[in-house]
Amino acid sequence: MSHANLLSKTLAARQNPSFQFQWSKTLDRATQHLSAEKEDIVLLDLELPGYQGFDAYLHLRRQYPTHPVVVLINSEQKMSGTEAVMQGAQDYLVKGQYDDELVGRVLNYAVERKRSEERLNQLSFYDPLTYLPNRILFIDRLRQAMMAANRYHQHVALLFLDIDRFRRINETLGYSVGDELLKAVAGRLTGNLYETDTITRIGSDEFVILLPNVVKMTHAVKVANKILGAFRLPFSIQGRELFMTCSMGISFFPNDGDDVEILLKNADKAMSLAKLRGRNNFQLYSSTMNAKTLERLELENHLRYAIERGELELFYQPQIDLKTGKMVGMEALLRWFHPNRGRLSPSEFLPLAEETGLILPIGEWVLETACRQTREWLEQGFPELRVAVNISDLQFREENFAWNVDRILKKTGLHPSSLELELTENIMMDKEGFSDASLDALKSTGVKLAIDDFGTGYSSLGTLKRFPVHTVKIDQSFVKEITTNPDDAAIANAIISMAHSLRLEVVAEGIELESQADFFKSHHCDKVQGYLFSKPLAVAEFSSLLEKQLAH
Ligand code: C2E
Ligand code: MG
Ligand code: MG
Repeated sequence: MSHANLLSKTLAARQNPSFQFQWSKTLDRATQHLSAEKEDIVLLDLELPGYQGFDAYLHLRRQYPTHPVVVLINSEQKMSGTEAVMQGAQDYLVKGQYDDELVGRVLNYAVERKRSEERLNQLSFYDPLTYLPNRILFIDRLRQAMMAANRYHQHVALLFLDIDRFRRINETLGYSVGDELLKAVAGRLTGNLYETDTITRIGSDEFVILLPNVVKMTHAVKVANKILGAFRLPFSIQGRELFMTCSMGISFFPNDGDDVEILLKNADKAMSLAKLRGRNNFQLYSSTMNAKTLERLELENHLRYAIERGELELFYQPQIDLKTGKMVGMEALLRWFHPNRGRLSPSEFLPLAEETGLILPIGEWVLETACRQTREWLEQGFPELRVAVNISDLQFREENFAWNVDRILKKTGLHPSSLELELTENIMMDKEGFSDASLDALKSTGVKLAIDDFGTGYSSLGTLKRFPVHTVKIDQSFVKEITTNPDDAAIANAIISMAHSLRLEVVAEGIELESQADFFKSHHCDKVQGYLFSKPLAVAEFSSLLEKQLAH
């Protein structure tokens, strides 16, 4: 206490600079009031009650890692003073061995030293966590590389790298594991690149790699592949094996921009594309990567998860027997309820599903859902119904297609005679696409086959002989003008009579008008389907339609 009094008197007497002195008896009380804005410096007595050596200093440091501190020791304690300085204290004073001159100077220097240290930190060129060059140094090197590339007519490549699902590491294993992982990634990148390449950490888990004097652009691709490969080995962090992947985007100077910020932005965009494409890959930025491709990519990415998110739904359109006027079956038609775009019809997403192969899992889902639903309706006592399911060419060409159909029938308990598969004309024309054995396998499942949209392709009824075809569906385009266009009427008529002579059933689809229905009735077409009778309906609506029919 006498020291504190002495000090306050000493300091109060000083003019230039002048000090304002606040004194707390205990460390706890002091730390409660401490704030970086108010105090320039802490003068800490190491001989506080309950603390030994320089424990009091460590205690303070833990709570206030950056505050400038000068420690006050007694003459026997010199070691603690030096230790405290080694731990980051600015200086120390020995009790009884100072005058106002010395105290003033020490405190003043301590404050100044702390300030210049901070300035230096800001200006320094390295990331304190990974020791990689920081953004300032990186941009400087990038500018130099761009100038050199201009002179020698070369390229500069920027690889923008983002660690996939890094946030999950921080969230589940804690920030210290996250930090260690970032260091390990930095180390692995450094180990896989030339010394002339510059790596920087630009965001929390984002790195940018600068490849100067790139002669061939494929060089950057090779480097990106090398990095993907380098991520294949796990990172061992604090006794854990972490398997990580990364996504990268690549931009080139001068092709993708002649300005630092634009090059970075474009590499970043390409990286986002890599994320969209399922992560663990890299994409090149190109100015042709326009909004349309991005939109398509987004759709594709969404479609990938449409099944598991329950966004797909089957609608059912009744098929009417023209002789009895009764509903005898229905066609299952797919709808996608997209979270942002609402209900999408098949023409809006099936081409994409075909291109990406996603039609295979989707087609399987359709088949299983339609079979299960039909079995349910049959069990509920609704009259004999046959469900028609559209099959894409890709699906049909799958080697295990027949086996899959059989498996689904068994799984759902639907009798094969209640299922009709609608195939395209293309399938009929493709002789090499599948073997007799696979056709036999399909025959032996007992399901019926229909040819959809008949008359639009190049097949003739003769080519159908090879297939166990049961039904022909006349394409809507002939139905539209059937009552006004004599050619359409002649074609439809020919299809019906030829099909009947081959003992095939005929369905006309797209019937919207009474007059169209009359035409097909008078020409002995077997079944019809179209808006005149009903639009495709959701399960609940279709159920109530069935109930109505049962009540009649
Ligand atoms: P599709 O098999 O020829 O199906 C008939 C299409 O005509 C359906 O269009 C149906 O809604 C529509 N339609 C029915 N009645 C009328 C009518 O009176 N007037 C008019 N203008 N149109 C009518 P949707 O549902 O948009 O399906 C289009 C195509 O997408 C289908 O043509 C089929 O090729 C395909 N598709 C639908 N669902 C699936 C599926 O689950 N898997 C596969 N692979 N393809 C499917
Ligand atoms: Mg169809
Ligand atoms: Mg059709």
